Amino acid sequence: MTTTATFQQPDVQGYYGNFGGAYIPEMLYRNVEDLRTKYLDIMHETSFQKEFRDLLKDYVGRPTPLFLAQRLSNLHHTNIYLKREDLCHTGAHKINNAIGQVLLAQRLGKKRIIAETGAGQHGVATATVCALKGIECIVYMGVKDIERQAPNVARMKMLGAKVVPATSGSQTLKDATNEAIRDWINNPIDTHYIIGSVVGPHPYPDMVARFQSVISEEIRWQLKEHTGSELPTHVMACVGGGSNAAGAFYHFLDELSVQLLAVEAAGHGVNSGMSAATTQLGKSGVLHGSKSLVMQTDDGQVVEPHSISAGLDYPGIGPLHAHLFESGRGTFLSATDDDALTAAFELSKLEGIIPALETAHALSALHQIKWTEKDVVVLCLSGRGDKDLATYMKAM
Ligand SMILES: *Cc1c(COP(=O)(O)O)cnc(C)c1O
Repeated sequence: MTTTATFQQPDVQGYYGNFGGAYIPEMLYRNVEDLRTKYLDIMHETSFQKEFRDLLKDYVGRPTPLFLAQRLSNLHHTNIYLKREDLCHTGAHKINNAIGQVLLAQRLGKKRIIAETGAGQHGVATATVCALKGIECIVYMGVKDIERQAPNVARMKMLGAKVVPATSGSQTLKDATNEAIRDWINNPIDTHYIIGSVVGPHPYPDMVARFQSVISEEIRWQLKEHTGSELPTHVMACVGGGSNAAGAFYHFLDELSVQLLAVEAAGHGVNSGMSAATTQLGKSGVLHGSKSLVMQTDDGQVVEPHSISAGLDYPGIGPLHAHLFESGRGTFLSATDDDALTAAFELSKLEGIIPALETAHALSALHQIKWTEKDVVVLCLSGRGDKDLATYMKAM
């Protein structure tokens, strides 16, 4: 046992430095406390680990490849490896967490899964795993998002999930979150609420980071096979709530020689009023159950974010990332909508890989760094671009 604080581990109250904790209504206390006291024991059970690992291998298709992108590397005069989360079943990293939480919910004796979704990616991952396990699945989604994201709504329904429209407020993600929380309060005994990123009250940020940490666990041994060393000089990832970045950073957080580069969505530009660059614009505040950096007005009203990519269109950031930013352990960059589109077309032509728009933000930020020939960069290719084809077609 070590008493040294690490970046990996929040304290017992769930704080990473000044950020984290559990800010929840009293009616949710029992549910969250039940999860908090049991999640680590369950995750460490041999039978849990075996089932989780077997599904990651045989159902998700892990390990995902670590690919030396030669033509992209030549362009930047350095060495760039892509961690291919786009090759996961359902097309992105979110399934790693959905599997972990469904298996955990079963061991907590839960019979019903609820989730909220904005773009529908987390909803699809959750509905997929619930179908696999034969568990009832209810996904809350804003009415506006249901209209905007018709293919994902169809996918969830085909997978047997019930999609419940959230009709209040702005009829988007935050309203869907409110509906899901209301459901959880009303069904405390039999229901588990699956959060899709490293956000929410403790223990969610830590739990989700642990489920996604398989990404950096694989990067270490795969990089050793490629280069002889487990440590890259840089790890890069896009950040919405921050789960693919947390997974890609996790086993490097306390390796201080490894630079961690997180890329946020600048929308129309950081100072345009149409952005989702939380660390650049946000102030300390409470959002969705934890204290973190939040985009807000002077009197604390949450600002509506904007990004061309639905997965980065979030006014907050997980508490781990707020801590990485405040402590200087992480470097935070941003890319605009247009930058991301350009980078998506660039990668497609250079490597034959069409990335998700979210990932394209991280790819764009490659242009913001002066690389050397000695650098070894691992970029988390969080998802594939099929879901973004309509946007790409408009941009052609
Ligand atoms: C949801 C999503 C993201 C953003 O979520 P994080 O929790 O920040 O990882 C990034 N990329 C893809 C492909 C996504 O689907």
